[in-house]
Amino acid sequence: MTRGDSPVTGDCAVCRVEFLCVFAALHEILRVQKLGKNHDGYHGETIDIRAVLDEIVITAQRNRWISEIFHETGDCKWIALHRAPISITDPQSPIRIYISAGIHGDEPGGPLAALKLVHENRWPENAEIMLLPCLNPGGFTTNQRENAGGIDLNRDYRHPKSAEVRAHIAWLERQPQFGLYLCLHEDWESHGFYLYEQNPDRKPSLAEKMITVVKTVCPIDLSENIEGRAAHGGIIRPILNPLDRPDWPEAFYLISHKARQGYTLEAPSDFPLPVRVNALVAAVNAAMDF
Ligand SMILES: [Zn+2]
Repeated sequence: MTRGDSPVTGDCAVCRVEFLCVFAALHEILRVQKLGKNHDGYHGETIDIRAVLDEIVITAQRNRWISEIFHETGDCKWIALHRAPISITDPQSPIRIYISAGIHGDEPGGPLAALKLVHENRWPENAEIMLLPCLNPGGFTTNQRENAGGIDLNRDYRHPKSAEVRAHIAWLERQPQFGLYLCLHEDWESHGFYLYEQNPDRKPSLAEKMITVVKTVCPIDLSENIEGRAAHGGIIRPILNPLDRPDWPEAFYLISHKARQGYTLEAPSDFPLPVRVNALVAAVNAAMDF
């Protein structure tokens, strides 16, 4: 891919070459520090979301995924990708994994991680994957967290007002239960990668394994308090009853209706974009390696 073809706009802070620098050598990545760009919000690289999504769909279809458009506004499309399991030991119980990204339009690492995941195409053979690479394409066109109408979609899942979330919930209602959900995010304030775990049935946790793998490619935020919640080694296990909160994020809908275990992954967006993409991809790969 030449620079002119790159779906990323703006310079990559690591190699200043092209988008595929997300495959940069590890020794290049580990030298990086916080950039100090983000002061009141995200001020890093932006992406051409339409080009990224086009490339994700083309790559996924080449790898025999099925793509579906479940919502459309203007020239923005909401895409769901489906990968059937290649082999199933027990036909009644494929591992169903739901992965979403791009619900906040100022978090480009998520859709780029989705692109890298479909490009690498390394999935457990018996896994059925549902991948939604961008839940807020409108927000990416203006590099803003909210949708074009100013709604934070990740607070709209209990009593949805936005057409996007209504369409997403309608799509989710057509899906079987998931064994695991992974929601890919970025945090412009954080000092490193961290994650939220929801695991009400106390299944074997995947959190420590993800942190162990991610810290080889990205710093971990070791703060004892992140976003107002107690954190330990980059892991937040919120004790929450979704019914106590009126403004549900996507993860609350998922844990209430579609899955009994899941993780919200937060890459630190004051670090170079390739580091964040690699952190998200590493966490997803670690979670799937069960
Ligand atoms: Zn987010």
